[in-house]
Amino acid sequence: MSAEKTDAAVAQIKALGTSPDDNYRVWYEIFVYSYCDSDGDGIGDLQGVISKLDELTELGVGGIWLMPVHPSTTYHKYNVSDYYAIDPAYGTLSDMEQLLQECDRRGIRVIMDLVVNHSGSDHPWFKEAVAHLQKVASGQPMDQVVCPYVDYYNFVEADACPAGHNPVPGADGWFYESRFDSKMPDLNLGCEAVRKEIEVIMAFWLEKGADGFRLDAAKEFYSGRTDQNIEVLSWLQQTAVSLKPDCYLVAEVWDTFGQITDYYKSGITSIFNYPFGNSSGKIVKVLQGAGNESMVTTWATAQEKSDTAYSGSHPGYIDAPFVSNHDVGRAAGFVGRDENKVKLAGAMNLFMSGASFLYYGDEIGMICGGGNDPSYRAPMYWNAAGDDGTTAPPPGCTLPEEYSFAPLSEQKKDDSSIYSYYRKAIAIRNALPVISHGVTTAETELNRGCVSAVRKVWEEQQAILLMNIDSKAASVDLSAYSGWQLTVSLTVDDQPVVLDGTSLSLPAYGAAILTPVA
Ligand code: CA
Repeated sequence: MSAEKTDAAVAQIKALGTSPDDNYRVWYEIFVYSYCDSDGDGIGDLQGVISKLDELTELGVGGIWLMPVHPSTTYHKYNVSDYYAIDPAYGTLSDMEQLLQECDRRGIRVIMDLVVNHSGSDHPWFKEAVAHLQKVASGQPMDQVVCPYVDYYNFVEADACPAGHNPVPGADGWFYESRFDSKMPDLNLGCEAVRKEIEVIMAFWLEKGADGFRLDAAKEFYSGRTDQNIEVLSWLQQTAVSLKPDCYLVAEVWDTFGQITDYYKSGITSIFNYPFGNSSGKIVKVLQGAGNESMVTTWATAQEKSDTAYSGSHPGYIDAPFVSNHDVGRAAGFVGRDENKVKLAGAMNLFMSGASFLYYGDEIGMICGGGNDPSYRAPMYWNAAGDDGTTAPPPGCTLPEEYSFAPLSEQKKDDSSIYSYYRKAIAIRNALPVISHGVTTAETELNRGCVSAVRKVWEEQQAILLMNIDSKAASVDLSAYSGWQLTVSLTVDDQPVVLDGTSLSLPAYGAAILTPVA
């Protein structure tokens, strides 16, 4: 049961074209714990994800980013105990193989979280290293032949615990680097044996059918040392591509525009575009200032500036915009739960060039109940009854007293819902590959008032994207654009976009895409 007008609109949009089978796709981030529970124990699992793959296909996403699925002592699983296994709460290796096959069958690519800045403190490598250091502390010599794992981490002998370190238990005077948490000892990425381990881990999952990796905490590989982090990213990229030529890597470098520009010199395919995402990023700032003319026009110029700088460092880069993820909270909260702005935030992300990342639940405008990590990772809001795979909240998660918008089951039946808007926006992006693949420049003649305008060029294709970022209707003079036609539009309500002669009327928060007349 779905919304008939939306189904018809999506079918019409799909007829416009298709995107190539590459990594410029819409990727959907799934926190397995909170997504869908298949066996009633309250914890999401891989069979739950498998049961919802048709939902993802209907939404139009072409890829999944799975947050860590390996055995771990925490609910979030960013401290890995075994890189080759699946956490029993999530399922088995055979479930993971089935998930990869089911995704492959639907043309959905899967990237896995590769957490190699650190391991878990209960990983056998760390436990063996600690056991050896305990003997050293009691007067025996350190022997790296007996225990090669002492080189896997960054151990130091010191009088006092250095910053970013924790004491090695039972080994007085020894400390280990652990930038995030005592449960997360930093791996020594300069150690050849560690690099070999990482290569074997990547090969294992790629061979199983994974399509790439999201690289956690790349800025902390060598905390404060950008040049060395760039070297590690270069190595990871070259290694991944040597294992699987179209392997997709996207790195988390939570940093400024200038820093990310530098990090692209590594040749890494993608880096999350933090300057555009999160509550302080460009998308949300522009929407918060909606109607402010000088701010609206920067939406176009910022995309041009970003594309120019990043491609200057790495011509083959694929941008990786997002609004929300598991560390920052929810788009709907950032824009004051204003339904129109929640929708437009989705289109602003999806209509940027590159690979666009969605966080599960953003397509229905989910919000957080609290300002901490577990609350950013609340159960997917499938239906009002809380069945159909709804999970228990992760430990420490505060649920919203009430969600601002309806659950997925209801939004699917509503032609004017956030979900229906997302379906149409994704369909437009997928049907017109110039949107995701195009080089972006501000279209200065049209980029004025409360209308943002960019031109995208890719191979023989061109498009001009117009967006009214205001609560009032806008009119655009297209008299200098006689060779262009209105190809498709997207509005937050039922108000149409109308081209009358050379005058284009854009309703509040409406978007239009022009392409050259054939
Ligand atoms: Ca379960």
